[in-house]
Amino acid sequence: MTDYGEEMSEQRKQRQKKQMRAYYLANQEYFQAYQHDYRIHNAAHVKERNKAYYLANHEKILSYNTEYQAAHPEMKLLAARTHYWSHKEQINEWQCTKVKCGCGGKYTFANKAQHFKSQKHGRYIAA
Ligand SMILES: [Zn+2]
Repeated sequence: MTDYGEEMSEQRKQRQKKQMRAYYLANQEYFQAYQHDYRIHNAAHVKERNKAYYLANHEKILSYNTEYQAAHPEMKLLAARTHYWSHKEQINEWQCTKVKCGCGGKYTFANKAQHFKSQKHGRYIAA
């Protein structure tokens, strides 16, 4: 007798799950906008929650990441390329940004290391 009742409740649960999924899919834009707004208006709370989750599970997360990277070495390169192509304009803009140095010279972020090796900057550091 109890089996029948559990079976019914299981069927009901499955039906309810399907209905909830259909409702979510029908109103997906609304839910996504709500979640986006929630994250913006409760940024501090979300950050704390994520930090607590990370601290509680960081060993599990790190071991998962290590295993994933070992199993999918091509994904790292793909992610880097995807990031570059989707942020190409921002990256190029950032690289071409000119910065005044304490030595009196100027450098772009793309040439920062080269400037730090220059004679002019070397004299400034030595002085
Ligand atoms: Zn300099």
